[in-house]
Amino acid sequence: MAEADNIFLKIARGEAPADIVYSDDLCVAFRDIHPQAPTHILIIPRKPMKSLNEATQSDETILGHLLWVATKIASEVGIAETGYRTVINTGPDAGQSVFQLHVHLLGGRPLGWPPG
Ligand code: 5GP
Repeated sequence: MAEADNIFLKIARGEAPADIVYSDDLCVAFRDIHPQAPTHILIIPRKPMKSLNEATQSDETILGHLLWVATKIASEVGIAETGYRTVINTGPDAGQSVFQLHVHLLGGRPLGWPPG
């Protein structure tokens, strides 16, 4: 699949539908299509990045930005006080299924630990 055909990049470009909750010059956040918790939001960079494995030192700003946006959304949707989890799945053992880097923001219920 060509990089530009990735579903998350299409969502970021407004070429595929999504329930977008936040957007800025660097990233887009939208609700997961198969939510695993009452709040399940994905935050992606606009820049194509297949996974965390592609990150270099020059990506420090965008990586920090994705987490900052997660905290901002957590506050806005009302899970900052009850708690939430941010997850980045990378590669086969982590079960990554969409190859555009994304931060999962999960909350709204107690989350088990350790994860599966
Ligand atoms: P991963 O397993 O790669 O960490 O997570 C991919 C996530 O993307 C899954 O939670 C899955 O439900 C979600 N997802 C896959 N395709 C779509 C889509 O087209 N739209 C939205 N909103 N979420 C998707």
